[in-house]
Amino acid sequence: MSESPDVLIVGGGLIGLAIAWRASGHGLRVTVIDPHPGRGASWAAAGMLAPVSEAHHGEEALIRLNMAAAEAYPDFVDELEAETEVPVGYRRCGTLMVGFDADDVRALHDVAALQGSLGLAVERLSGRACRELEPMLTPSVSGGIHVPGDHQVDNRRLVHALTVAVERRATLLRQRVTGLVVTGDRAEGVTLDDGRSLHAPTVVLAAGCWSRDLPGLPARVRPPVRPVKGQVLRLRIPIEPALFGGTIRWLVEGSPGYVVPRADGELVLGATSEERGFDTEVTADGVFQLLRGAHQVIPGISEATLTECRAGLRPGSPDNAPMLGRTAMEGLVMATGHHRNGVLLTPITARAIAALLATGEVDPVVAPFATDRFAAPAAPA
Ligand SMILES: Cc1cc2nc3c(=O)[nH]c(=O)nc-3n(C[C@H](O)[C@H](O)[C@H](O)COP(=O)(O)OP(=O)(O)OC[C@H]3O[C@@H](n4cnc5c(N)ncnc54)[C@H](O)[C@@H]3O)c2cc1C
Repeated sequence: MSESPDVLIVGGGLIGLAIAWRASGHGLRVTVIDPHPGRGASWAAAGMLAPVSEAHHGEEALIRLNMAAAEAYPDFVDELEAETEVPVGYRRCGTLMVGFDADDVRALHDVAALQGSLGLAVERLSGRACRELEPMLTPSVSGGIHVPGDHQVDNRRLVHALTVAVERRATLLRQRVTGLVVTGDRAEGVTLDDGRSLHAPTVVLAAGCWSRDLPGLPARVRPPVRPVKGQVLRLRIPIEPALFGGTIRWLVEGSPGYVVPRADGELVLGATSEERGFDTEVTADGVFQLLRGAHQVIPGISEATLTECRAGLRPGSPDNAPMLGRTAMEGLVMATGHHRNGVLLTPITARAIAALLATGEVDPVVAPFATDRFAAPAAPA
């Protein structure tokens, strides 16, 4: 470990690891601290890179950030794979969103209208056209939208590649941070499980949904992140014949779901969205809902082997967007609250935060996501 790191990063999920990798590329000495790197939300996730199919009314600034993130992906992946020789399963496979009944299709067309008004590429399809694209779909599918630009990455391979890169260029410490060291009004380091303290001019808080609870964090800089539980299943099918073209998302009587097919035959089937604090139990009801939705849209999925049931915790924020940049406390930078798009937002977060650490400059693309946007306005004097 570097005796005098320039930056300490609390949390080695995709966000902390990618910031470390990029910051070390700027010549900074970085230490990432995490007892279980990459095993939080970043491990549970499905890996959809979905700025268009995840577009929601009222989230226009986030949609712009998500689009910029998707554009940054190919170069990020090329560079990481070249450096580590770890393939990360980036597939430009597009996404098909289908509706089961007429109401579901109307809801999808409503989303398509928003997407179209923002200049995003989408194409409305009949039920028959959906089945021509994805023959595994039931004939009962009423219609859908094709989103050619929403791709996927294998988030677990991405965790592996970033871990390899960080272990080569920086320090990855498998310890839990037990507190923030604050002197006066300045963050100066952290304390660890083993009783040691580490010091650095800058501490980056990238602990996902746990970011709010770091001991020693003063209330005025505590990020309003919360855990949003997502139950998700992994299944396996033969690679030959290729049964899926790309990601399929659906609405069945208003309930959403998706299946993300990997090149190696894995299917990721997700996901619930539940406000249950830090609970990560997998429930019979959660598994039932996921399998029922999938079976209604893709009946043949019942033939697949079920290999994993898991629940992860998305780092939710009040406006579903991340908190990125300096905080009101000197020496403390934040990169958290990526909610349902953290895999997508990994490259752009890493680029912006690493540049901030190296140069002090705020990348305009992340300026709307300042960490103080939820702070209560100061009382009049
Ligand atoms: C079911 C599910 C499906 C998802 N699907 C997608 C998707 O398809 N596309 C997409 O873009 N996003 C998706 N997401 C969201 C995405 O996974 C998250 O936004 C992203 O992984 C957040 O990354 P992170 O590094 O901030 O958090 P995490 O990956 O949770 O990492 C936080 C890390 O902080 C560490 N930590 C916590 N406390 C401490 C401490 N005291 N000391 C040291 N370390 C600490 C933890 O060990 C953990 O490794 C999904 C999430 C879930 C749960």
